Amino acid sequence: MSEEKGWTRRTLAAQALGRIDEATGGLIPPLHVTTTFLRDPDNAYSRGYGYGRPDNATVREGEKIVGALEGAAATLLFGSGMSAAVALFLSLAPGAHVVAPRAMYWSLRNWLAAEAAAFGLEVTFCETEDLAALAAAVRPGRTKIVWLETPSNPLWGVSDIAGAARIAHGAGAALAVDSTCATPVFTRPIALGADFVMHSATKYLNGHSDVIAGALCFARDDETAARVRKIRAGHGMILGPFEAFLLIRGLRTLDLRVRACAANAMSLALRLSNHAGVAAVLYPGLAFHAGHEVARRQMHGGFGGMLSIRVRGGERAAIAAAARVKLWKRATSLGGVESLIEHRASVEGAGSPCPPDLLRLSAGIEDAEDLWGDIDQALKG
Ligand code: PLP
Repeated sequence: MSEEKGWTRRTLAAQALGRIDEATGGLIPPLHVTTTFLRDPDNAYSRGYGYGRPDNATVREGEKIVGALEGAAATLLFGSGMSAAVALFLSLAPGAHVVAPRAMYWSLRNWLAAEAAAFGLEVTFCETEDLAALAAAVRPGRTKIVWLETPSNPLWGVSDIAGAARIAHGAGAALAVDSTCATPVFTRPIALGADFVMHSATKYLNGHSDVIAGALCFARDDETAARVRKIRAGHGMILGPFEAFLLIRGLRTLDLRVRACAANAMSLALRLSNHAGVAAVLYPGLAFHAGHEVARRQMHGGFGGMLSIRVRGGERAAIAAAARVKLWKRATSLGGVESLIEHRASVEGAGSPCPPDLLRLSAGIEDAEDLWGDIDQALKG
């Protein structure tokens, strides 16, 4: 849209693209809950809507905002991050080969390892942080999608998006990036060569731990986008209108929230690096992190709000430390305004690369000293 030219992402999100409700002049877009629409006398649906499962006007509003933030040609919202990711894999023809990271969001890794074969997909897991390993894993002509997650759960490895795009495209594959933890505030995968960007919008995009949602952004509005749109309609995967309304509301403060989370994460990472109770801190913002140089190149303005610590004393010491927090909340998920702590191996189970002494921290927007004081006392015991 021409009126958006020159506006920053922070401005676009704060004003939900500056759109005004035409019927009332309202600054807040209305919540469209109707499931069905009036046909025209000539039997057409000239307004563009026929039924609520393929499409919804509030969902479309949310898609326009997320698409503008990612610089996408088309964007689809889903009922969860998992359904957004799975819809893309279901768009592949049986026989397709997929490359995915060894360390990635556990539930999607499990789906790729246990379920994808039933849909005729073959999956190779590799260290996508290592471009040579990625180049060895792709099969020219057969690999259809290279999947990255960067920074990746729960070790916060960093994959080089531009380098991976060159390898994927050289093999005739497309590059998809789960950018949930980087957020469009810090990284724009499409500008770096990615073909698809996926978000668990449950996390930072919504930001208030009250919506399960997913987003899939397309660099081109092509036949893959059309196929995924069809899969979303056929499988009933669209986001509900109320969730889309809440997501639009959450997106207005995305920039402020994400920068505050990242500032807290950086300050905690630096202080935890010198804590006697901590054996290692995993955070891409730290100069000694293996992915720091790549993160500096492709993350602009911050390194995200997620970090992990390995607790001295092993699994029992880690679980005991998590039990002692008073301000941090012991809970799964991430990307909300409240800080969360989780013993990740308890969640991920067999096959996970997560070490048993690891606590995953989602830094919220609370006062940094309050967060530090609480985690410090929990680690001291
Ligand atoms: N990707 C990442 C990085 C995640 O952390 C999650 C959920 O934790 C997902 C995808 C899946 O998203 P959802 O829970 O919205 O289905």
